[in-house]
Amino acid sequence: MPKSLSLAIKTVKKWLGSHDDTQLALDPHIIGRDRHGINEKDISRAAINTIAELHRAGFQGFLVGGGVRDLLLGLHPKDFDVATDATPEQVKKLFRNARIIGRRFKIVHVRYGREVIEVTTYRGHHKAEQISRNKRPKNQQSAQSKNGMLLRDNVFGTVEEDALRRDFTVNALYYTTANSSVYDYTQGLEDLNNKIIRIIGDANTRYREDPVRMLRAVRFACKLGFTIEPDTATPIKQLAPSLREIPAARLFDEVLKLFMSGNGEATFLQMQEYGLFSPLFPLTAQSLQHDSNNAHTLLIHALRNTDKRIRAGKPVTPAFIFAALLWPSVIDKKQQLMADGVQETAALHQAAQAVTIEQQKHTAIPRRFSMPMRDIWDLQLRLPKRAGYKAERLMEHRRFRAAYDFLLLREESGEQTNNLGKWWTDYQLGSTEKRAEMVNQLEKKGRRQHKRSPRRKNVVQH
Ligand code: ATP
Ligand code: MG
Repeated sequence: MPKSLSLAIKTVKKWLGSHDDTQLALDPHIIGRDRHGINEKDISRAAINTIAELHRAGFQGFLVGGGVRDLLLGLHPKDFDVATDATPEQVKKLFRNARIIGRRFKIVHVRYGREVIEVTTYRGHHKAEQISRNKRPKNQQSAQSKNGMLLRDNVFGTVEEDALRRDFTVNALYYTTANSSVYDYTQGLEDLNNKIIRIIGDANTRYREDPVRMLRAVRFACKLGFTIEPDTATPIKQLAPSLREIPAARLFDEVLKLFMSGNGEATFLQMQEYGLFSPLFPLTAQSLQHDSNNAHTLLIHALRNTDKRIRAGKPVTPAFIFAALLWPSVIDKKQQLMADGVQETAALHQAAQAVTIEQQKHTAIPRRFSMPMRDIWDLQLRLPKRAGYKAERLMEHRRFRAAYDFLLLREESGEQTNNLGKWWTDYQLGSTEKRAEMVNQLEKKGRRQHKRSPRRKNVVQH
């Protein structure tokens, strides 16, 4: 290697804080069309158009990230991301339906009907930028917190720099329609073939810059069935608590990706192993520690059912998942309140309120999900009360179905409910006469029990 090139590589490495020689290959490994197996028919027209339009205007444009990774693995990408040397403003001018979004990380959303293509300007290295901060326009500045977290990352660079700013090697593969080739700057293809999640650069530094990368490592490992490479895995346990510094709104989005992508059960188990669950759900983590109210089994069943529903193409709602994730803490709190003499319904309300408020400090729960979540909880106390017209009225409640599913979930995880779930299953399937008969039976049974123990109140609720 000529001396000047090796010096240039050394300088770039110094910027990047990279300690690993294998991580930096300035010359990309180019994989031609006959060697990568990507078929352009599998790329959305919207993504192809976006790249073509950038090329027409004289800019570079690559497909990058999960789209390329999943195509190479023979999976169906859920969306396509494009990287370019055009600035967000230049991109916006090229497309009719384009909007610049984000502050921390500015990107352009180009809309084609219901599909959105994310167009990202190549990111450069922020330390180089900090040296000449004053010479740069304000919107290109980066910002970092005391402990190394990147608060803003709008420093633009070259495609080579962009590759090194991405999180994992398998996410840093670039594909261009210009010559139908894959460009690999970080030996990502080798990791892809070996099923390895490897962070680019020094793991400690990269997790400090953005702790969410730790969640992403686990998410991709579970989604793809990959192994997290040891240097990438080792610092996670120690750095996991730094997730507490991430804004609650961003963590809410991450939780949805972690638990609502069809691999929730595996992801939850791996998060626990790496200490990544408790910074997101500290109250649930406490309940899990004492395994109070079958917390672990309940969560496993909830996530397993969700995974099954997603695979079967059935709808799932964050309200239900959050209801399950927080239920053990709600019950713990409710029991404490009842021990202090608070009546059951009031205790449930107070517990629900307290747990929701506390959780929102860690992950936001938008109102459109927190309201139905609390309905699901409230209905758990109403489902046993079925006398008269109550059962019929409960069935009309808009959250009845979710509450009934939640009841079955509690039973599945070992809670004793006196066969309440079966009763409701039969009731829903029954004719009008059968339903009336079922309610009658309940009332008779209630009266008999009432006679036998005249002084005991609320023995059977119906
Ligand atoms: P999927 O969309 O399947 O969840 P993805 O890899 O496409 O996975 P996105 O969140 O869509 O993930 O991000 C697109 C790409 O942007 C990633 O592949 C990665 O290259 C880069 N990226 C995203 N988040 C980060 C991050 N926190 N740090 C560094 N690079 C990131
Ligand atoms: Mg993506």
